[in-house]
Amino acid sequence: MRTFRVISQIFFFLSFLFLFFFLNRNPAAYRWDSEILLWANPLTGLLTTIASRSFYVPIAVTAAAIMILTALFGRFFCGFFCPLGSIIDFLDKFIFEKMRSAGRRIPGFFRRIKYVLLIVLIVLAMFGSFFPLIADPLTITTRFLTVLVNPVLSVFGVDLLNLTGWIWPPVVERISGFFSSAVPLYYGVILTVILLLLVTAGGFWQKRFWCANICPTGAFLGLLSRFTFFRRAVNAAKCNSCSRCAAVCPTGTIDKKNVSGTDVSECIECGVCVELKDGCSSFQLLRPQFTGGSGPDLQRRHLLAGVAGGVLMLPVFRATAINKRDDHGRLIRPPGALPEEKFLARCSGCGECMKVCPTNGLQPCMFTDGFSRLYTPKLVPRIGGCEEKCSLCGNVCPNGAIRKLPLEEKQFAKIGTAVIDRHKCLAWAQNRECLVCDEVCPYNAIEFRMVDTVKGRFKVPVVFEDLCAGCGLCEQNCPIFDQAAIVVYKFGENRRESGEYASVWQKEVIRERRRKSDSVHLDNELDYAGESGEVSEGFSDGFIE
Ligand code: SF4
Ligand code: SF4
Repeated sequence: MRTFRVISQIFFFLSFLFLFFFLNRNPAAYRWDSEILLWANPLTGLLTTIASRSFYVPIAVTAAAIMILTALFGRFFCGFFCPLGSIIDFLDKFIFEKMRSAGRRIPGFFRRIKYVLLIVLIVLAMFGSFFPLIADPLTITTRFLTVLVNPVLSVFGVDLLNLTGWIWPPVVERISGFFSSAVPLYYGVILTVILLLLVTAGGFWQKRFWCANICPTGAFLGLLSRFTFFRRAVNAAKCNSCSRCAAVCPTGTIDKKNVSGTDVSECIECGVCVELKDGCSSFQLLRPQFTGGSGPDLQRRHLLAGVAGGVLMLPVFRATAINKRDDHGRLIRPPGALPEEKFLARCSGCGECMKVCPTNGLQPCMFTDGFSRLYTPKLVPRIGGCEEKCSLCGNVCPNGAIRKLPLEEKQFAKIGTAVIDRHKCLAWAQNRECLVCDEVCPYNAIEFRMVDTVKGRFKVPVVFEDLCAGCGLCEQNCPIFDQAAIVVYKFGENRRESGEYASVWQKEVIRERRRKSDSVHLDNELDYAGESGEVSEGFSDGFIE
């Protein structure tokens, strides 16, 4: 059983890495549902469904299937599938085993922490808030890979390709498609390292410390598996009550005083206990036990602690003083993001979208954006704008927090609006020639007009609010040092849960205006209104202030 488990862990872990590093950063991601393994988290499926009051069919169906299988066959997810469990097993074996002292025991009540956390998460979800920071091992693993591993591998990838590119160009060119062309970097590296330590360092005290004591998904699966058919059974004829099985069990499932007593809610089916001696115990298909001590060791006060914890955390989530900060109007979500409340109820902060963003512009929100937004994606245009021919983030989002948009539709999913800072813009402030923003704008939303500036008459850029999609490529490329002279704010964003972003007629008008705007000449003085420095009708005031 143990060999089978290790093979299964390696298989799923490699599949997870394959999907993460190769498939879904490739054009194939447009055709395949490459986030398939990320759907397989039952707790996230349940919490996002409760919090958003809606079904995202792929994750709801996959989560329901795993819940049913867990009820029948126990916590196979933890022992055979979970990539975080595999990483923890690896570290426990090769790093912490030598440091761990045999006499060091974790107090039994630690195991109840995960149930309290689970209740906190359920209470929050019932009030419409999803807090995925530590809820789900697949999300946690993806986040580690995105923020910590992907940048490091990209350094090697880019260097390796630079060194070897001349050897076999066609093959190297093909391989290079799987690596970022530049090394991505993300906010929150230190916080992610702290989380990584929180999840793994418990191996110093106990094998699978995280799974046994903290993981809310483990607690959820434990509750579901309470009446499982697949359980460990002791062969009374061969058992001499040596209690070694209880000593080696990483999750404290086996009662030391009565080794035939197995708390199935805690059992991750790792199989260590049944391989100690020949045949003294084994996993079998048995009738569920509806009586006896096979449930989690929970008392009413733990339930109350969980409910109180959830209710007390609500103000932190709802605190408008924090949540409404919105980074001074700069909290720009990727195109296709659901309306904010729904988005927060769905986004698990896994980082898949940030990983595939080719410009590295999608970054995780940190504490300054509000507690409930931690690790959710925001576009930071100064780092990278949103490419016109890309809608990868929606394609790979496993939770439906970002909609899958065809490229044709994406251009109408406006995410913000660019505003020119006249005091910084080279043309407006210093009468110096600069066309960068106009040149890089894929939507032809910027035009140059002759205007009286403080330094005299000059060609200056103006922004058309209705044509601007808020992609931020102008801000990214603006040559002004530090903060750009053209900055995207989130006002004007168009976020919808379903349906098209504009009517057929509106789309045609916008397309036509973008086409026309492309052909307008720089020194078009006809639209200039007079000596006051104001431009004629058609410009919103905000765009030249
Ligand atoms: S659609 Fe825009 S924000 Fe999303 S991945 Fe592509 S470039 Fe990044
Ligand atoms: S929006 Fe991004 S971070 Fe949030 S669930 Fe989707 S892919 Fe993950």
